[in-house]
Amino acid sequence: MMIPTLATASPALPRHAASAPDKSPDDARQSPEDLHVPKEYTTPLKDKLACGAVIGSGLWLGANIALQAAATGSLPGAVGVVAGSLAAMAAGHVTADLASGMFHHWIDNYPTYKTPIVGELAYEFQVHHHKMQELQEKTAWTNMADAGKYMWIPMAAVAAAGPHWAAQAFTLGFSAAGFVAQGSHRWSHQKNPPAIAKLMQKLHVIQSKENHAIHHRMPWADNYCIVNGMWNPLMTKTHFFRKWEKLIFQMTGREPHCWQDPGVKAFALGQINEEQFLKDQGMNRKIFHEIVKGRFDEEYARRQALRAEEARAREAAIEARTARPGDN
Ligand SMILES: [Zn+2]
Ligand SMILES: [Zn+2]
Repeated sequence: MMIPTLATASPALPRHAASAPDKSPDDARQSPEDLHVPKEYTTPLKDKLACGAVIGSGLWLGANIALQAAATGSLPGAVGVVAGSLAAMAAGHVTADLASGMFHHWIDNYPTYKTPIVGELAYEFQVHHHKMQELQEKTAWTNMADAGKYMWIPMAAVAAAGPHWAAQAFTLGFSAAGFVAQGSHRWSHQKNPPAIAKLMQKLHVIQSKENHAIHHRMPWADNYCIVNGMWNPLMTKTHFFRKWEKLIFQMTGREPHCWQDPGVKAFALGQINEEQFLKDQGMNRKIFHEIVKGRFDEEYARRQALRAEEARAREAAIEARTARPGDN
């Protein structure tokens, strides 16, 4: 359903490898709005394959639903299946927004980039708070492939099993939304997202800029839902995540990263009331900022240098290939 433009160009030094260190990495006002994918960035083949596998599995589910609609043998029967499928897809979409919030809260707050298996994904989510441009330095396809590389497997499994159309439509709605979540997130940061993204923002199929901007206020402790963000107001109002964090703390002893803001921790543990929390919020945010600032500078620079090195190696390989015929 969403077709962002694939960037195609020769690989070389990422633009921000040179420019990023000049900027203050933790400046909350820093905005990636006007940044674009460096023209040297190409969607890696593995990401194209992951996105292709998601789209292929989605079409497979859609074809299965169409076949079940046709098998009813009557027009009213087929219309019923199609209408029911749209409703099931919408339910999948709504569920995916909630799931995106639960997942985003966990990946932001519990693992670090050094955690086995999920470390890479934790890096992607957490570095984004410090360096929002990171998301824009790659294509939308690469952003969505982060989830897509896992997502096509359950999608294809459900399509292969071929259960009732309602189950397949729910799977389709849920996984399409999950796949698009990082695209939705990316576009919520852009002043001028693609036309299709703008339309979906207007229809609240994906998240609005205003809805996501709330997540970017330190200590990044609200508005975790990033499909269309519809659950965010309710979750904020009920302090859902503070209660959830307290429960996790009581059960495992683990504290979320956002508790480095002493006000968030005290409020979650019921040591202060909401009034006190709001009163001290400004001061506590400053304390939090002092604790976390510069946290990703070293790792970010290391990765940028690595990317530049890889780009140089690719370029050298291309040069060597093109130079050889002339040598003989
Ligand atoms: Zn986040
Ligand atoms: Zn963001």
